Amino acid sequence: LDLYGVRNWGAGYFDISQDGEVIITPIPDRKDLSISIPRLIEGIRARGKEMPVLLRIENILDSQISCLHNAFSLAIANAGYKGNFRGVYPIKVNQQKQVVEEVTSFGARYHHGLEAGSKAELIAALSFLKDPEACIICNGYKDEEFVDLALWACKMGFPCFLVVEMPGELELILERAAIIDVRPRVGIRIKLASKAGGHWTESGGDRSIFGLDTTQVVALVDRLREVEMLDCLQLLHYHLGSQIPNIRDIRNAVLEACRIYVGLISEGAPMGYLDLGGGLAVDYDGSHTNFSNSRNYSIDEYCADIVETVMGVMDEEELPHPTIITESGRATVAYYSVLLFNILDVSRLEPQPFLSDIPEDAPDVIVNLVDVLHSLTLRNLQECFNDAIYYRDELRQRFQHGAVTLRERSLGETIFWHIIHTIAQDVKKLKRIPPELSELDDALADIYYGNLSVFQSLPDAWAIDHIFPIMPIHRLLEKPTRNAVIADITCDCDGKLDSFIDIQGVRRSLPLHELRPDEEYYLGAFLVGAYQETLGDLHNLFGDTNVVSVRIREDGTLDYVKEMEGDSVADVLSYVEYNPKAMAERFRHTAEMAIKAGFISVEDRYKVMKAYETGLLGYTYYER
Ligand code: PLP
Repeated sequence: LDLYGVRNWGAGYFDISQDGEVIITPIPDRKDLSISIPRLIEGIRARGKEMPVLLRIENILDSQISCLHNAFSLAIANAGYKGNFRGVYPIKVNQQKQVVEEVTSFGARYHHGLEAGSKAELIAALSFLKDPEACIICNGYKDEEFVDLALWACKMGFPCFLVVEMPGELELILERAAIIDVRPRVGIRIKLASKAGGHWTESGGDRSIFGLDTTQVVALVDRLREVEMLDCLQLLHYHLGSQIPNIRDIRNAVLEACRIYVGLISEGAPMGYLDLGGGLAVDYDGSHTNFSNSRNYSIDEYCADIVETVMGVMDEEELPHPTIITESGRATVAYYSVLLFNILDVSRLEPQPFLSDIPEDAPDVIVNLVDVLHSLTLRNLQECFNDAIYYRDELRQRFQHGAVTLRERSLGETIFWHIIHTIAQDVKKLKRIPPELSELDDALADIYYGNLSVFQSLPDAWAIDHIFPIMPIHRLLEKPTRNAVIADITCDCDGKLDSFIDIQGVRRSLPLHELRPDEEYYLGAFLVGAYQETLGDLHNLFGDTNVVSVRIREDGTLDYVKEMEGDSVADVLSYVEYNPKAMAERFRHTAEMAIKAGFISVEDRYKVMKAYETGLLGYTYYER
């Protein structure tokens, strides 16, 4: 039943029902609140929304925030830690207003704050300011406007920290603080020597592009002391990178940061806040390992390790326990969104049947291929494979030189594919499979055409080979009989998904079901709530997908909380500076000329314009 490992990566939010459908349980210990995705799709379709749809489940976001805070509370209680924990949500991870709104409103019970890495993000964050105990962390390059806004937030009584990322920023902060007449809350971002493994960990190490090295830290302390503002230095920050798979790297970094924190206190800074950045990984493949798509620790372990490490160093130095801040983004929002899409078509590399008696005058290369086919046994699979490739290449070469006709080439290739398919079947009967033949099944995989753009909806899958769990959301009681890769509908050969999660690493094709006539086949790409939405681009002018947000209430009722129309063709054209009205007008002229030239009638012109205007208003994806 669980061919796709959903119970490993689903974190209790996703599972398979008795009817073979993927179900969502937004609060993992409330199985009574489960809802099936096919049922949700019915509701979405009934509301007139076409696929692809980005489904957001609001309560999953709430559950993840609770999960992080509960884990820190437990770790703090178990260790007897005297300081607090404050979470902040880094807006860059998913900037959608709906996300930031939910994080701040649900997170208010935990004083969950925000991290802003740019002026625009700070302006967004300030519009949600309410709670004087929720931190705002200002990272990133800061100009005067950015600094002023952060200083005003300080002056208004909010714990808003200006984190110095570049040595030069301090002078600007001092100058503007004097003008605005406020004691700023200054943080410093440090470059750690510690480095972590994984995809997104270039933020750590000596060569990281952000943060101050120890010499610059000391210079900053001296300068603050010189202007009698060392009391403003209250926070130490680092960010080792996102998706850190190995807990050992996390522990090492915390330890190094604690030593620097201690050093700053002995220099006379009051400190009080230790901000460990992001990095809490998501177990995308469910392997619970230190592979880059996974993590070898639980959230409870992550929190316990941090709290114990910080407490160990502070107790040793007899210093008060600081408020621990983390900037977890990915782990907060990844589970909350699922991309749903339908399969439009399938192409198969299946050989056409051919008559075994080939023409008498067939070129010898074809005769040789037939001989290979007839001589196949379990003992000579590798040899036949080599011969088949050799003769197939020769066939193509001869075609280039005009010595083989199109029809002969087609016959030769058909025989070649028969050989390869037979080898792919027979090889499964061997005890020891030769390495070259072990990947034949993947090489022969079908292509399932999905109604999506990888570039728009799963940009990390294209850009950095990040792997998301992808699976059918129904028919899971049936054994899938096909192996497939998924192509999107951009006409770019990179627009495909051909790496899938597997407990042992990566698999290159996905078991899928045969399409049935007149029945949609739906797949879901899971755990896509972090980074994917705004990193996506308009390749081939496929725009934002439809978005539907749902919430499952305590009594089990389902609310379609928000529906957001995806981009229309006119929308995406206007993003690239077209004026849809002017375009329609120009096309109207063209149609008039076609009437004058006698190609179309006036009635045709009406139909032509209707088609053009309907196209402009339509969804950018395939509409049934
Ligand atoms: N904080 C900073 C400064 C970042 O640059 C990032 C993203 O890389 C994060 C927090 C979020 O990291 P994550 O999504 O791994 O929690």
